[in-house]
Amino acid sequence: MDGLDDLYKDIILDHYRSPRNRGELPVPPAMSAEGFNPLCGDQVTVYVTLDGDTISDIKITGTGCSISQASSSLMSAAVKGKTTSFAYDRLAVFKRLMTIDDTPGEPVNVRELGEMAALQGVVQFPARIKCAILAWNTLDQVLSTHASPQ
Ligand code: ZN
Repeated sequence: MDGLDDLYKDIILDHYRSPRNRGELPVPPAMSAEGFNPLCGDQVTVYVTLDGDTISDIKITGTGCSISQASSSLMSAAVKGKTTSFAYDRLAVFKRLMTIDDTPGEPVNVRELGEMAALQGVVQFPARIKCAILAWNTLDQVLSTHASPQ
């Protein structure tokens, strides 16, 4: 990943080598969804436990490239203990950061993204954007499954 800022590279490598919230949760009561990126072979499974509207616990398993696995770790750290609406908000911001959503609006405030901003360099490598967004899309699947009427 030459071309990425060194600090950002360090954050990505740190999350890749020491992934946060790694593991599984019992389903049920947890909910889970599996995501796959055939272009790169990345795979992630996201487990979420909700307490009301709060993501009280999140665990992730998976295999794949450093970007996909670091992004999973960063995503889990960003939403754990937060509300689902906060998670959706972060998902929307991340999609804009990755230029997947290019509707006009406020520019992304990189500073408010915290460590997630480390992935912004990925936009220079369009083939890797799907790696970076995989965990977020999988989280979206988990939460939208829950939101649908039972
Ligand atoms: Zn990948």
